[in-house]
Amino acid sequence: MKGLLVRREDILRRLRSWRLKMLTVVGSGICRDHLTDRAKKIIERAEVVYGSKKALDNVREFIKGKFKVMKGFSEAEYSEIVEESKRKNVVVVSTGDPMVAGLGTKFHAEVEPGISSVQVALAKLGVDLCDVVVMNAHSKEVNLREIMHFLKFRSVLILANRRFDIKKLGELKVVLLENMCMNERVREGLASEMELSSDYTIIFIRR
Ligand code: SAH
Repeated sequence: MKGLLVRREDILRRLRSWRLKMLTVVGSGICRDHLTDRAKKIIERAEVVYGSKKALDNVREFIKGKFKVMKGFSEAEYSEIVEESKRKNVVVVSTGDPMVAGLGTKFHAEVEPGISSVQVALAKLGVDLCDVVVMNAHSKEVNLREIMHFLKFRSVLILANRRFDIKKLGELKVVLLENMCMNERVREGLASEMELSSDYTIIFIRR
C-alpha cells in the first residue's frame, strides 16, 4: 500500500514537472492593453521569455524571470529555444496573434491567442473577417495575379511593410491603416498615387 502511495506521489511530481517545463507561444496584441489575463499569467510563470524587442516591450511589466531578445528569427534560434524549453518553462511572445504571420507555426508548442492587427483593422473598417482574404506580404511574396484572383470573391487585406511595392496594385482603390495604436494614420486613394512609409501597414482593398 505504502509502495503504491509513493509511486503515485512520484508520478504526480513528474507530471507537475512536465507541465512546468514547456514552451508556450503567447500573443501580446498590438496595443498595450490588449494583453489578456491568460497571457499575463503565462508570462508571469515563465522562467525565460523570448520575443522581438517590440514584443518584449509590450509585456515587460509581467516578466518575472529572464528575458532574451530574439534577433535572427532563424531555424537555429528556434532550435535553441526548443532545447531550453526542455529544461525550463519558456514563453515566446509574438506580437498581435501568433497565428497571423507570427511565431505560432515555428514551434510545436501551446499557443495562446492575442488580438491581431487584422482584427483591429477590420474593427476600424467595419468589415467581417469572413468577407476577407488575408495575405502576408510582410514575410512572403504576394503577387498581383493572386490578389486579382481573390478579389473576384472577397475583399483583400494585406499585411505589409515599407518594402511592399504598392504601385504594383495600379488603379486599385486602397485603404492604408498605418501604425495602429501608435501614431495611427488612415489614408484612402488609388494605389498608384500612394507611398508606403511604415513597416506597420495594413492595406485593404474592397471587393
Ligand atoms: N502577428 C501579427 C502580425 C505580424 S507580421 C498580428 O497578428 O498582427 C507584421 C505585420 O503586421 C506588419 O507588417 C503589418 O502589416 C501588421 N501590423 C502589425 N502591427 C501593426 C500596427 N500597429 N498597425 C498596422 N499594421 C500592423
